[in-house]
Amino acid sequence: MNVSIIGTGYVGTVTGACLAELGHDVICVDIDQQKVDWINAGIAPIHEPGLSELLKKHAEIRLRATTDYNDAIPNSDLTFICVGTPSGEDGRIDLSIVRSASKSIGEALSDKRSYHVVVVKSTVVPETTEKVVAPLVRGENVGIAMNPEFLREGKAVYDFMNPDKIVVGGDPRAVEMVARLYEGIPCEITRTDIRTAEMIKYANNSFLAAKISFANEIGNICKKLGIDVYDVMSAIGKDFRISEHFLNAGAGFGGSCFPKDVRALIGKAEELGYDPMLLNAVIEVNEEQPIRMVKLLVEHIGDLRNRRIAVLGLAFKNDTDDIRESRSIPVITELLNLGAQVSAYDPLAEPNMRKIFPEIDYCESALDALNGADACLIMTEWDEFRSLDKEFDAMKNLVVIDGRRVVSLDHGRGIYEGICW
Ligand code: NAD
Repeated sequence: MNVSIIGTGYVGTVTGACLAELGHDVICVDIDQQKVDWINAGIAPIHEPGLSELLKKHAEIRLRATTDYNDAIPNSDLTFICVGTPSGEDGRIDLSIVRSASKSIGEALSDKRSYHVVVVKSTVVPETTEKVVAPLVRGENVGIAMNPEFLREGKAVYDFMNPDKIVVGGDPRAVEMVARLYEGIPCEITRTDIRTAEMIKYANNSFLAAKISFANEIGNICKKLGIDVYDVMSAIGKDFRISEHFLNAGAGFGGSCFPKDVRALIGKAEELGYDPMLLNAVIEVNEEQPIRMVKLLVEHIGDLRNRRIAVLGLAFKNDTDDIRESRSIPVITELLNLGAQVSAYDPLAEPNMRKIFPEIDYCESALDALNGADACLIMTEWDEFRSLDKEFDAMKNLVVIDGRRVVSLDHGRGIYEGICW
């Protein structure tokens, strides 16, 4: 099938490369000329295992990119919308990019006579596809579908090719066309209406976020009782109704999806006159966890003015340079507010964090960050932190507050505290 893809970020590039691998002819559209040039040269615009290989294999053969909607849309049978849906000022979804992309698609479709399906893959709150996208792209021969994406950053190509679910909402003709695209992937297609497909994505992410906040809340209570929350979670995870995943208590969730998607669903619920108490609590617990890290630190070392605090880990999770909504951001903000000097280290995310905190001291290694520090906060579960040991001896005072349970330090060497254990 001939497919066009609007937006070549995480979702668009991975979708394009994987659909090319499945045998489809793909044209990607982005307003960013640099990304377009990279894709045409077979270079991945993002870090994702396996993506460069697919782009190299298919670029200029079954996959190309352009900035011109009129080059891409009329030459395809089906168009995916994969542009960003960030949080607005009030936390509600900002649909301006979706609107602008839909308008451009509508214009490019105006002279097309053959049947064309527009598929929303961006995460959008229920009713968006029908009320915002459809009126802008609707033509006599245009079908509309919604096909949310569940891939995980860092495993995006694998997840696209090995999904545990594929959800497609829309009228039967449009859904059938989308389903044909995925032939070759051994996964049942869940067929729904459009707003159900939209809600499945939000329910999915909100549930996972809720699991993390739940583990954190139980962890906060466990800590007061001297109970190891990891023993508790590992036992309850054996219950098949719960499952062992997403129960790691710690400094909270970040990233480009969970915080924004839970907030967007809260915004949509409020717009409908419903008070989403549980979703609000999921965010509240998550906001509180990084602040708890700093409170624990103050309990141990007191006034932070002019104290050197090592922050190990800046990315929102390991194996990425993505710092969006990273829990290290509120922690560093609080440390600076309290007058501390921050020495930070992350294997990948330093360039991104420099844009937010140009004033802190960035170090070449964990050892450099720890050298002479009054205390250390661990914010990301990087593997290389697991083997840290004698490096802590370089600190002025050995005080370590672990937000990710990555370090084990013998009692007697100094102070080691987990945020929830
Ligand atoms: P992204 O910001 O990485 O990429 C969006 C791309 O769209 C950018 O390259 C941008 O230049 C381009 N763009 C902006 N305006 C455009 C326009 N008018 N026409 C063409 N291109 C335009 O976003 P992403 O992380 O790929 O996320 C896209 C959507 O998928 C979001 O709704 C997100 O919530 C959802 N999603 C993301 C993930 C993830 O892990 N990143 C997973 C599942 C779902």
